[in-house]
Amino acid sequence: MRVIGNYINGELKASESGRESVIFNPATGEQVAAVSLSTAEETNHAIDVAAKAFPAWSNTSSVKRARVMFKFKELLEQHADELAEVISIEHGKVFSDAKGELTRGLEVVEFACGIPHLQKGEKSMNVGTGVDSWSQMMPLGVCAGIVPFNFPAMVPMWMFPVAIACGNTFVLKPSEKVPSAVMRMAELLKEAGLPDGVFNIVNGDRDAVDVMLTHPQVEAISFVGSTPVAEYIYTRGSQHGKRVQALGGAKNHMVIMPDADMDAAANALMGAAYGAAGERCMAISVAVPVGEGTAEKLVEKLLPKLEALRVGPGIVEGPDNDMGAVISKEHRDNIHSYVDKGVEEGAKLLVDGRDLKIPGHENGFFIGGSLFDHVTPEMTIYKEEIFGPVLCIARVNSFSEAVELVNAHEYGNGVALFTSDGKSAREFAQHIQVGMVGINVPVPVPMAFHSFGGWKRSLFGPLHMHGPDGVRFYTRMKMVTSRWNDHDPSDSAFTMPTMK
Ligand code: NAD
Repeated sequence: MRVIGNYINGELKASESGRESVIFNPATGEQVAAVSLSTAEETNHAIDVAAKAFPAWSNTSSVKRARVMFKFKELLEQHADELAEVISIEHGKVFSDAKGELTRGLEVVEFACGIPHLQKGEKSMNVGTGVDSWSQMMPLGVCAGIVPFNFPAMVPMWMFPVAIACGNTFVLKPSEKVPSAVMRMAELLKEAGLPDGVFNIVNGDRDAVDVMLTHPQVEAISFVGSTPVAEYIYTRGSQHGKRVQALGGAKNHMVIMPDADMDAAANALMGAAYGAAGERCMAISVAVPVGEGTAEKLVEKLLPKLEALRVGPGIVEGPDNDMGAVISKEHRDNIHSYVDKGVEEGAKLLVDGRDLKIPGHENGFFIGGSLFDHVTPEMTIYKEEIFGPVLCIARVNSFSEAVELVNAHEYGNGVALFTSDGKSAREFAQHIQVGMVGINVPVPVPMAFHSFGGWKRSLFGPLHMHGPDGVRFYTRMKMVTSRWNDHDPSDSAFTMPTMK
């Protein structure tokens, strides 16, 4: 059985920890590899290597750093099928969806290619007589990234291309469930000309993470995962003087107004709720039809679509399935018990995905799409993130009731409104307490040149991922004020200096 180790200083390196985690193919339920869970010493070593690589890399001109990114982008395109296959095998999502996430990650690499422009400072001549001021966005040092299972390629690429392009060095801790795609990317980065030690991977669990959170040479931590872990990372990392951006869980609503195009809304809802088996932080998990008539129409349109939902392996001959397996048996059982709980607490289960069996893949971690109606805010299936193919319909009577419902939820990652009325769309965009808002767009994931992040308990820390916030997160400003004119060297100023 293949055992995945670490990638440190430009080389694959076996771990000596003796602890391993099993990697499954969710479509078959079979083990495909194991990944080492690194020791604290191994993590320390990776950080030390990254710290040693920093002086030379941060001194490399920004055009040269950009050229590595251009080449990396080319290599990612060449290897897209191979990478998507790896993602699909370890994660379970369907091949075309794996290619989709790869493209969204690649767009961040494209953004990072513009680093000479993005990292430019500002200059003012003659801020005082003969005095000039200029600013420069300086790299920080060693940055660390800790990522979840659900986007094996895209989420790491929200982080390291921007961090590295800014002149930092990086240590990544992948999800122990899906490490292979980024292990391959490390090799591609080397092929693209990235010097050894600039990008390193430490596989592991909490033991490795805790070293990253406390190591004096780690300057910044980027995290994406569940809210309890995000909060822990933010608190512990901040206590140790690091800047932290920690993105957490979600419960995203789609509000459907009576004037919405119902076919468009129902189609959008299907993809947003059941795509990637609901294992997306921007998945829609609550539909909020406004008015009984809207709710009835929505249910009528959704039911046949759920019946037609094609669930199966991620890699097939011919057209892809709509959704694949979920990440693990435990996670499937967990989703199963959320559906049990919804029934117990009185929601109306319109479509039950619990007993789905895929012929030939009986041991795969499959669960069909479920649909609940008459879900209310006190129910567990409304309050908690299920992270599976379970859509809840929470009926409301008015637009303002819908806005109140969304705003009262503890999460604030994404939200969508379907309407044909500009006035309510504008009001919604203005008053909704959510970080990413879609108007007739179900999954409003910002493009790489904008920044991605939620509000409330979906994000800890002030700066979002990639785009302008990404560059701000991975740099700090230096202001230089300089005088080169003749001045009286005996002039001691004891008062606060003011410009003349
Ligand atoms: P997770 O929180 O279990 O794990 C995320 C990472 O943290 C992994 O690398 C894991 O090894 C590590 N980790 C787990 N427990 C830890 C602990 N106690 N101490 C230190 N490190 C720990 O998340 P997951 O199950 O891999 O991913 C699913 C979650 O990620 C969902 O909640 C989803 O909403 C969230 N997510 C959020 C976004 C976003 O942009 N907000 C994007 C993708 C996923």
